[in-house]
Amino acid sequence: MTIEETSVSETETTSAIHYGHFVGGDWRATADGTTFEVHEPYTGKVFGEVAACGQAEAKAAIEAASVAFQGWAELAPARKAALFLRAAEIVERRRERIADLLARETGCTVFFANFQQDLVKQTLQHAASWVYQRKGDILQSDVPGTYSTAVRRPLGVVASFTPWNGASVLAWRAVLQPIAAGNTVVVKPSELAPVSAGLIVAEIAAEAGFPPGVVNVVTHAPGEAKVIADEFFENPEVRCINFIGSVQTARMLSERAGRVLKRTVMELGGYNPMIVLEDVDIDYAVRCATFSAFFHQGQICMNARKILVQRGIYDEFLRRFVEKTKTLRRGDPQNPETVIGPLITPQALASVKERVAEAIELGGKALTGGNHQGQVYEPTILVDVPPEATVCNEETFGPVTIVQPVDTVEEAIAQANRTMYGLTSAILTGDTYRGFELAAQVKSGAVHVNMPTIDDEIQAPIGGVRDSGWGRTGPYSIDDFTDLIWVNVQSGQRKLPIA
Ligand code: ADP
Repeated sequence: MTIEETSVSETETTSAIHYGHFVGGDWRATADGTTFEVHEPYTGKVFGEVAACGQAEAKAAIEAASVAFQGWAELAPARKAALFLRAAEIVERRRERIADLLARETGCTVFFANFQQDLVKQTLQHAASWVYQRKGDILQSDVPGTYSTAVRRPLGVVASFTPWNGASVLAWRAVLQPIAAGNTVVVKPSELAPVSAGLIVAEIAAEAGFPPGVVNVVTHAPGEAKVIADEFFENPEVRCINFIGSVQTARMLSERAGRVLKRTVMELGGYNPMIVLEDVDIDYAVRCATFSAFFHQGQICMNARKILVQRGIYDEFLRRFVEKTKTLRRGDPQNPETVIGPLITPQALASVKERVAEAIELGGKALTGGNHQGQVYEPTILVDVPPEATVCNEETFGPVTIVQPVDTVEEAIAQANRTMYGLTSAILTGDTYRGFELAAQVKSGAVHVNMPTIDDEIQAPIGGVRDSGWGRTGPYSIDDFTDLIWVNVQSGQRKLPIA
């Protein structure tokens, strides 16, 4: 069954969705018919029942991707582009239905669900041009009669791990970037959002007419990720592990990839600083801080985790920031008025509670927030938190941010760089040129001057430095998903040194 065909369970008022996994263009049940339940973060009710795949299903998916590879790599760019554009139309047509599924399965607000659909549609449209990127270069050669070229070739099968948080955007990206470069893909969505982070992509790709095997999706029950990953690592057909997730899991996967010498692309978390200088428009800074800290209830990798405010405006900034934060409406993500929805799981909620409790025990204060109603954690502003608190060092995936005073610009930069992460950052100042100059000093994959820490444009090279990973998005991803080959042609015969 697919997203168009939902069934109403007898005991629940909401509809539960049933999905198989998607291999070689077919929807399949697992060999032994096993499934697992996915729950709605806000209500705790069953959202759907999805195939619980294992090693055999992962192997079959890799096989299907491998069989499809040559034909897809050689398919004319115009044909690929037409498929992407058709998929964009389907996304638009199903916008409401997909937005509803996203809100239910991942707890994102209606605004974020719609924002994701817009970005997915744009990404599909833009990807139609990626297939026309130049394939290489003609090189100069010192040897007469030589035609020397550097040519990009796709890698083969790419295994993409897709996350639950910006599920729709990130899943499409994890599929489109490799396939636009001529690869085929097996997607392993997060067990927390297998529909939004994979199965919807498969369904739209199928309807758009993607050739069988170009996109495959294997879903798995909680605790079974390793079984699928084992097959990805051990199967020689998989040439690249494309991972979006936490630093902890990335470390483990990178070690494994090293042992079997597979390429990895890593899009990881961040501990994103926002610097607020005292020449800023305080109201604008407060709006940027509110969005950066609390969007998607602090569960995206670009949220601002630490706000460094110059002493001269510290008290006033805090007063207005607290006031603004108290106005954010919390509750049911399906209510269009809601700004702060639920955290993804009870475990995620427990982790946020634990981090805030530790910060307070160590001497920190919560100026607002610090409590929860069900799965909805209140947006929380912490001050006076000592540097040893976990929340000062680790990404806390929830609506919690720290505000800290700094005396000088130099101190702000030093504090911003006091992390091994490096995903995104922001500098807010009334002097735009000064912001531009300071941007060079922040160790981060993105520096946004007079903007929030959160931004996403399809043509931009989004990605991390240091512990936030490697690999870049959009057209820049061609480097991650191709090999560069030297094809060197000699007309006539060369003089050789020994023969
Ligand atoms: P998050 O907390 O954001 O879900 P994780 O890094 O825990 O981030 O999970 C990201 C992805 O890594 C998920 O798809 C999950 O299934 C996968 N994963 C978790 N543990 C393992 C493991 N031992 N082997 C392979 N994949 C794993």
